Amino acid sequence: MKNKNENFFYLNLSSLVTGEVGDTKKEIIKEENLFTPNEIFNNIIADINFIRATNTIIAIGKICAKIKIICSRCNTEMTQTIKSNFEEEYFLYNNDILGSHRGKKNFQPEDFIDREKNHLDKRNFLDLSFIFINSLYSEISIAPRCTEDCKGICINCLKNLNYEKCLCKIS
Ligand SMILES: [Zn+2]
Ligand SMILES: [Zn+2]
Repeated sequence: MKNKNENFFYLNLSSLVTGEVGDTKKEIIKEENLFTPNEIFNNIIADINFIRATNTIIAIGKICAKIKIICSRCNTEMTQTIKSNFEEEYFLYNNDILGSHRGKKNFQPEDFIDREKNHLDKRNFLDLSFIFINSLYSEISIAPRCTEDCKGICINCLKNLNYEKCLCKIS
C-alpha cells in the first residue's frame, strides 16, 4: 500500500533548469491517486511534456482519472473516467531572486498565492498537484449521468426506470 500522504506529483526539473532554452523533458505518471477535500481522483494517468523557455518552464499535458459520481437522474453511484488537457507556465526559482534584486515591484499577497503555484521551488522541484486538480475539477459535470439516456426514477413509485417498468401515469 502506498502512503496516502506521499506526493507523487512532485517532480525534479533540475536538468531543465540547468539546461538550455528549447530543452524538453517528458514525464509519465501512472496509476496514482490524488486526495482532495471534496473529491478523490483515482488511477490518474498523465503525460506531460516540459519545455524550457527563457525564464520559465512550460508544461503541456493530458491527464485522465477515475472519480465516483452519483447519477443526477437515478441516484446510482458509479465510476466515471474524466479527461483533460492542460498547459501552464512555471517561473524558475532563480528568476524570482533576480527579479527582486532589480526591485521591479512589491508583490501583493494575492500575487504570492498565485506565484506559489506557478513556481518551481528552490530545489527546482515542481508540484503538479495544483494543475492536475484544477484541470480535473473543470471536467466534473454538475449533473452527471450514469448513461446518456438514463431514464431516471419514477417520482411517484420511486422505481429505477432503467431496470423496472412502472404503471404510474404521470402527465
Ligand atoms: Zn442514472
Ligand atoms: Zn412509477
